[in-house]
Amino acid sequence: MHKQKYVVVGGGPVGSLAALYAAKRGHDVEIYELRSDLRDPSTTPLNFTKSINLALSERGINAMRHVDEGNLLEHVFSATIPMRGRMIHGKRPSGDLYEEPQDYDVHGRTIFAIDRAGLNKRLLDILEAMPNVKFFFNHKLTGADFKQRKAWFEVRGQTSSSGRPEEVEIDFDFMIGADGAHSAVRYHLMKFARMDYSQEYIDTLWCEFQIPPRTDSGDKGPNSRFHISPNHLHIWPGKQFMFIAIPSEDCSFTCTLFLPSTEFATLEADSSTLPAFFDLHFPGVTTLINPNELMSSFEANPHLPLISIKCRPYHFSSSVVILGDAAHAMVPFYGQGMNAGLEDVRVLFDLLDKYETTESSSPGDAVYQRSMSLAEYSALRAADAHAINDLALQNYVEMRASVLSPTYRFRKYLEEL
Ligand code: FAD
Repeated sequence: MHKQKYVVVGGGPVGSLAALYAAKRGHDVEIYELRSDLRDPSTTPLNFTKSINLALSERGINAMRHVDEGNLLEHVFSATIPMRGRMIHGKRPSGDLYEEPQDYDVHGRTIFAIDRAGLNKRLLDILEAMPNVKFFFNHKLTGADFKQRKAWFEVRGQTSSSGRPEEVEIDFDFMIGADGAHSAVRYHLMKFARMDYSQEYIDTLWCEFQIPPRTDSGDKGPNSRFHISPNHLHIWPGKQFMFIAIPSEDCSFTCTLFLPSTEFATLEADSSTLPAFFDLHFPGVTTLINPNELMSSFEANPHLPLISIKCRPYHFSSSVVILGDAAHAMVPFYGQGMNAGLEDVRVLFDLLDKYETTESSSPGDAVYQRSMSLAEYSALRAADAHAINDLALQNYVEMRASVLSPTYRFRKYLEEL
């Protein structure tokens, strides 16, 4: 195998895993990340652009299993909470509140709640210990020439003698663009590849809240500090919208309100109406989150849009590929955005390995082989990525409304017979 210079743009979960796969194969790896190191306590937390807690599934776990380095999987499992199903919350006509568990799997298999930043930090720690990996934080990709294999980065916080931001030029053999939904790599790739591209904003915004741990549980075991079951993804379905809660290791829950923009605007105009809105549509939540906390989180936390992106191909020649949200940002309702991005990494490197055949191949062969791998990657992956984007859109209806339908319950009843 010929050692190559791999440049990864974006140090999120997908870019970090891709860097790890490349480093394990002996390449020289450079990671360029727009923000400062998220392990530095002074770094602005990412959680206001990405949900704090994510659902990790077999798709993502399998991708990490294939590069077991630095006890990654052990760490991942020690820092996750299994969720065996959904817990639907509602109110009966009598006024009584109810909780209805709906298991994900008849064999008891689960998905896992994980702290996004914790996973990202662990990946960065493992990379830092590898001699062939270098980090470049505060570096923003501003330009790329995929024929000349050159890229330009603005160095944040540094100004040149002309008073303009410092810019650096780098060379690379292969660039992996994992720089998220608003990818700069994708933008520049479009000038080289005949890329089909579409994006859609759905008419739903999201905002985060927290259910705090219990303070009155005494010493009744580790789970007693959770207000509600820690082993479920909790849903308050509102038919046209919903509120969900995912458990965290500190016994709190990270909650997300998904609501059409007009409803957000009405509540923004007078946030004192929020507790009554919750009591009407999400019964029981105001006993878990103090109404004042509810209002202050709504005012302080951003109300963010949701985008769904499809494009193809994902590569140009042998010099660049885009992965993760850069290639297929999706709405979060299937819990698969990060999982699919991690899977991209596994599929890509399987194909790179498949074509990189002989020990004696020359650097020219390596370039040719990589172009074959990338062509197959785009052909294979686009169909799957587009399908999962569609499933993610459809699953919003399932979560906010269908879970309430008698047909759904009857079907589940039959499945369990
Ligand atoms: P990102 O996480 O966006 O990382 C991209 C990185 O690139 C960032 O660090 C950014 O700073 C950097 N960058 C950007 N531009 C540049 C540039 N020009 N130069 C250099 N660096 C740059 N997924 C799941 O699998 N399960 C879930 O349960 C789930 N829940 C979600 C809930 C919500 C509310 C949302 C919004 C998303 C959810 N997702 C979930 C999706 C998940 O957050 C994303 O799919 C995942 O973060 C994508 O990872 P990534 O590494 O591709 O991109």
